[in-house]
Amino acid sequence: MTLLSLTQLTASYGATQALFGVDLDIAAGEAVAMMGRNGMGKTTTVRCICRMMPAQGTLVFDGQDLSRLPSHRAARLGIGLVPEGRRCFRDLSVAENLVAAARPGAWHAGRVERLFPRLGERRRQRAASLSGGEQQMLAIGRALMTNPRMLILDEATEGLAPTVRAEIWAAIATLKADGMAMLVIDKSLKELRGACDRAVILERGRSVWAGPMRALTTQVANTHLGL
Ligand code: ATP
Repeated sequence: MTLLSLTQLTASYGATQALFGVDLDIAAGEAVAMMGRNGMGKTTTVRCICRMMPAQGTLVFDGQDLSRLPSHRAARLGIGLVPEGRRCFRDLSVAENLVAAARPGAWHAGRVERLFPRLGERRRQRAASLSGGEQQMLAIGRALMTNPRMLILDEATEGLAPTVRAEIWAAIATLKADGMAMLVIDKSLKELRGACDRAVILERGRSVWAGPMRALTTQVANTHLGL
């Protein structure tokens, strides 16, 4: 079953067009990597999916036309965003941050703490006192507390130490095994290969390649990602 479907999505920042035709499908339980060099439109596509900016083209989530919904309604439909830059409430504790995001469903603070034991250990600490990696775990935990049907991770491992990165990739693997649909943006092709079923590559605001991960050859990566 297709959960998210974008067809020929276009979007602009004022007079500057950023997206010129993005196609993207995510089925229930599927993890899709969105790749592309800097400035190619990945975050803009995420903003359009989350209704943080207007877009033209077709944007359907779970059979509903998202383009007609304001962002708070889109979030209620079940799209959980872990934004670039890991935003949490700095003056609230870890536990308070999780509760503040909660919507009814199978995810609760205890389950998030099982996924990220460090968050359980730091339950009463202010979010501002956490390390960068722990704040990222908290951002993922907050998105899960909304009980999404699809999770979007925008550069969730950016700037983190290798050991913390590995913990986050392990959590992504656990979520995948649990059947969570995901859109994953990351710079590490190696990790994306292990975590995702399919990939879409953006170039100058267009999806220029899409296919199963195993079809993403060195030549494709050279041509479109400069790797
Ligand atoms: P990165 O990996 O650097 O985050 P990206 O693929 O996510 O890149 P976007 O951030 O979506 O790329 O940017 C796509 C285009 O839109 C770029 O040309 C960028 O300069 C432009 N852009 C992004 N945000 C804004 C903004 N707030 N105002 C104007 N232009 C923007």
